Amino acid sequence: MHTQGNNHGRIQGSTRLLGILGNPVSHSYSPAMHNHAIAQLGLDLAYVPLKVETGGLEACLRSLRELDFLGVNVTLPHKQAVMPYLDEISDLSRKIGAVNTIICRNGNLFGTTTDAEGFLAGFREAGHRFDGKPVVIFGNGGTARTLAFALLLMVKPSRVVLAARDRAKSGKLAAEIKDKIGAELEILNLDEYPKHRSEFEVLVHTTPIGMHPKIGESLLPPEWLEPGQIVYDLIYNPEETALMRHAKAKGCATVGGLGMLVHQGIASFKLWTGIDPDPAYFYEGIRLQQSREALAAAEK
Ligand code: NAP
Repeated sequence: MHTQGNNHGRIQGSTRLLGILGNPVSHSYSPAMHNHAIAQLGLDLAYVPLKVETGGLEACLRSLRELDFLGVNVTLPHKQAVMPYLDEISDLSRKIGAVNTIICRNGNLFGTTTDAEGFLAGFREAGHRFDGKPVVIFGNGGTARTLAFALLLMVKPSRVVLAARDRAKSGKLAAEIKDKIGAELEILNLDEYPKHRSEFEVLVHTTPIGMHPKIGESLLPPEWLEPGQIVYDLIYNPEETALMRHAKAKGCATVGGLGMLVHQGIASFKLWTGIDPDPAYFYEGIRLQQSREALAAAEK
């Protein structure tokens, strides 16, 4: 295959390009994850950050064709905005309404999403299953939307409930899901949650509360948690959030968001290269970037 060959991570005339298209992209772990896997596998590829303003998206996507990119990831704020410029879109991306991976084939751009797969694989890797369990998702933004489709289409939880502060927004998503896939997404106001807290086995947190730098904050106070529950917090910086610390103290199992990040990346990598890489390469790539960042911070 064109991408194979033991080039030890060097960029040369034959190197094909991959990248991440978003704004901002400077703190993304994706270049570090993918380039480390590329070097470990000796592939003739390089993965670059592509910071693009929304107004420049169409030209950027045209350039991907011109420059013979192998593919790109798409991150915030462009996951929906790229869709009109693609030649083909997967059924899953159409349903979810977002694309995080573009594959360039013979000048055509094919868009799909690997976020759903990454979310499920991150949970599986931690030794847990959604099947047969009542699940509550906190938040109703872009990520909650992807996860609701993932849970209702790809695994078999006994219930999926959305707990968020904007009931109208949750209701709109539930109606859309009913219409598109005929599945039942239950909705709950966030302030009603305490009354229902013992009904759930898995809690999935999708709001930004607790993310770096506000690492002491948590959407859920400790008294909302029940021993034995599994708390899956999608935040990966920090790797252990205040919510996860409270959950552990309460006797809950916890899963952080790094696994989802790694596994959505692996799923994209497989689509581009046909190679199923060792997840350790992706985790090592992240650790290397974290060490470089810690060193740079210490030198300041
Ligand atoms: P988003 O579309 O902006 O949605 C954020 C959600 O959080 C909305 O439902 C918002 O509710 C809610 N929220 C924000 N502040 C709140 C507050 N004070 N109280 C209650 N709800 C609040 O963002 P997103 O794209 O879904 O991403 C959310 C988070 O998911 C990110 O910050 C990131 O940590 C995580 N994530 C992780 C991965 C991974 O690979 N691990 C991938 C994607 C995202 P309102 O609409 O009412 O404001």
